[in-house]
Amino acid sequence: MMETQRRTFHDANGRAITVTAWTIRGAAPGPVMTVMAGQHGMEHSGPCLLPEFAQEMEPGNFRGTLHIIPCANPPALEIDYEFYPEHEDLSRIKDYYYSRFRHNYCPWNLGRDNTVTLYNMNRLWNRPDMPGLAGEITRWLWSEFCGNANLIIDLHCLQARKPVVYNCFRKNLLFAAALGVQRIAMCDPDPDENARGNLAWQGSLGRNSYAVCLEFSVQHALGEHEYEFGKQALRNAMCAARMTGGEVKIANPVWKTDFSTPENTQTMKVSHTGHIRYFKDLYDEVHKGDRLFELRDIQTLEVLEEGRAQRDGIMTGIAYQPVTAPGLAVCYVSEAELLAEPGRKFTKMEEGWHLA
Ligand SMILES: [Zn+2]
Repeated sequence: MMETQRRTFHDANGRAITVTAWTIRGAAPGPVMTVMAGQHGMEHSGPCLLPEFAQEMEPGNFRGTLHIIPCANPPALEIDYEFYPEHEDLSRIKDYYYSRFRHNYCPWNLGRDNTVTLYNMNRLWNRPDMPGLAGEITRWLWSEFCGNANLIIDLHCLQARKPVVYNCFRKNLLFAAALGVQRIAMCDPDPDENARGNLAWQGSLGRNSYAVCLEFSVQHALGEHEYEFGKQALRNAMCAARMTGGEVKIANPVWKTDFSTPENTQTMKVSHTGHIRYFKDLYDEVHKGDRLFELRDIQTLEVLEEGRAQRDGIMTGIAYQPVTAPGLAVCYVSEAELLAEPGRKFTKMEEGWHLA
């Protein structure tokens, strides 16, 4: 049985905004898992795949409790923008178009390049005094669904060729690896005050609390090609936490990369203008000496240069520019640790870990 909770809030203009949460109670006691999505309004994959996942889980054939909040920030999703600037001139969104060539452009000059804004819901978690609609929503969601969760998966999207998991703490690694996402990018475990309002950071602080952020690969668009992958990641998470039986099913190797430093990452820059042909995809394994790309002149089609790996690792970044320019960083190779791979039995989380 799926229980629906709805809470209505009012924005600065008095407009009523309703947020929906679903709770499915399993057939036996067990961990509490919360799946959050739609904090950022240009990230639609989680919000779109979660109704299907909830329907699949509705019979409650699992241990524990599942909370699903598919659209945490409805007015931001409605305008397809990162946050909802309730005190600004909302009509300016009509003149906004997204381009990855001006990724951080903000119609209200409140983007990540300009300032720190408390409109960004994912900076407000577990902070009782945060103002505004986003503050009120996170306060409710934290007290009802997140503060006591053992496991939190926060679904986002970025602009990349593939999904990635962001994780701040080593203790989350088993849980993070179960998602089956090819790369787990370790983030600063000791971030600044602002970044500490991140749900995955706050959600990891309790002794039996594990929280990670899964980023799908496309913003400002629908990403249907990843919905099944996303649902399988959530099934795997429940399986790894022993909420369900069976085995974790992953389709590709899972790598961990540490916070990038010059010592563990090779940045590959080119010295010509041209078209580039990559021979490795994002997060593919790379060995020293592997040919990673070649670059051709646009007039003569001659190969002007090629790039070879100077270290072992995985491809951790690929430029989105279709035409290179001298000095452009076209890809990165980072040191990586293999955590899981298809065909190798996945180690589940300890039985009873959630009971203390
Ligand atoms: Zn996001």
